[in-house]
Amino acid sequence: MPDQHPAPKSRSHHPGCEEAANPECDCRRCFSLLHQHGILSAAITSEGSPTDFKARLTDLFGSAFTKVDSDPVPAQSTRREWQPIATAGTGKRRTQTEQRFVDVTLRDVLWNVHSILHPPSFKAGWLELAEGLTVTADWEGLAARLTAWTGDPDDGSGYFWSSMLAAAAVSPWTAGTPGAPDIITQSSLPQLGHARFPRAGSGRNLTAIREMANTNTTRAAADVISRALSRSALAIRDRRLVLAVVGSAVSPDLWHHPAATRHHLIPAVLGLRTRHNAQFSLDNHDAVEDRIDGDLGQKWRDRAAW
Ligand SMILES: [Zn+2]
Repeated sequence: MPDQHPAPKSRSHHPGCEEAANPECDCRRCFSLLHQHGILSAAITSEGSPTDFKARLTDLFGSAFTKVDSDPVPAQSTRREWQPIATAGTGKRRTQTEQRFVDVTLRDVLWNVHSILHPPSFKAGWLELAEGLTVTADWEGLAARLTAWTGDPDDGSGYFWSSMLAAAAVSPWTAGTPGAPDIITQSSLPQLGHARFPRAGSGRNLTAIREMANTNTTRAAADVISRALSRSALAIRDRRLVLAVVGSAVSPDLWHHPAATRHHLIPAVLGLRTRHNAQFSLDNHDAVEDRIDGDLGQKWRDRAAW
């Protein structure tokens, strides 16, 4: 339960990364292949009662707020430090709004995966694909190969895998799956190559994802991702939805990751909404995906990062 980590995938991995309550998770072992693996698997397998799962989500992501700028009441919790609106400066208020958009919406995506598609038999094939896309069976081998090519993980390395999954999402899906060469081609899109918060302009506010600029690491990732998608027997729209959910979960921090927010989080919301009539806490007169696009997306767009 919330205060107990499940057993890690191997002794050399950090269970805190698989549970990843901390948005600044900076695992230097797995390139974030297993980031939030615990909650992702639990959502897909509809593990635990809805009440228990909701409590676990609140523990990890904070409460299901319905406003982006409301101070938490005593029964509510936030994922990150929250300064009361009355005393927060303009920059802090913007930061809090942006973070709430992504934290609450990722929470809602996982909640919907857990609850809407219940019983788990409705999601036959989902876990296999998610495990393939996160290389659960051989994450250590892959991490060792990546390290051999580009050195020990650095500040940007945790964003590599979700950005490569984004490259797959934007590739042409011929014969039902994106081919590795197409994924490699898309991986050079400049918008996939940096971690940056929405108002980050330049300099030290931009973190280059080094592995996105190396042909060996992008090829290795593209091969694995293409194979996992082509092995799946799911309908293409379901493969795309699982890809979007996984890509959202493995990003260390969506607030810093325009590629994951645009190519994973928003498509996950859209897929769940249109196919499964999912609701989202931050829907108001506008759908939350449009609000995210108009807030974080516009800021990143203004800086050619979207
Ligand atoms: Zn890790």
